[in-house]
Amino acid sequence: MNSNKTIVKPNTKLPIKVSTKNLDLQFAVRAFLKQIGEDPNRDGIKDTPKRFEEAIKCLLSGYDRSFEKENRLFENISNYQDIITLKNIDFFSMCEHHLLPFFGYAHIGYIPGEKVLGISKLARAVDIYARRLQDQETLGFQIAETLMNYGKAKGVAILIEARHFCNIARGTEKKTSIMSTCAYYGTFKGNSQLQQSFIELIKHREKI
Ligand code: ZN
Repeated sequence: MNSNKTIVKPNTKLPIKVSTKNLDLQFAVRAFLKQIGEDPNRDGIKDTPKRFEEAIKCLLSGYDRSFEKENRLFENISNYQDIITLKNIDFFSMCEHHLLPFFGYAHIGYIPGEKVLGISKLARAVDIYARRLQDQETLGFQIAETLMNYGKAKGVAILIEARHFCNIARGTEKKTSIMSTCAYYGTFKGNSQLQQSFIELIKHREKI
């Protein structure tokens, strides 16, 4: 377990320490294959437990990363005080309710304080939190919380549009359904003019 990784979810505030470094899933996957009547030793699937474990480690690699450790801030030398946006940030995540993928685009706007974040930092913030067990609302919250607390942003706006496998391949099986979450923090909160500016800036965006 990595003691440095904590997740604070909205409303709960209970830290959960998680790491995938010592993941041992191969026995469980072999047992699963047996349960559905497969022969885990047949050629096509004999290495599947190992491949699955590696895939899960990649999909959940965000647990072992830290935005604070990976990203340095820069002084806001020009005293820029308007919205900086980065749109079309593609991401892959895993729904914590069904352990199935959801994927899409995040579009972020922020107003810097005394520090500015480089473009790559915004994309990294999305990756670090997307590569964990998630729900879409919490993903947006965690990205925004990091930009507000560590990035010292005055305000953050974030729109996430995603397709969820648990909705398109099972359940209601709505193959073209897209889930959108849009949340505002800091100076964006309750400021309809700023919110409209953000929506205008990301009007021409990639569609999932
Ligand atoms: Zn789900």
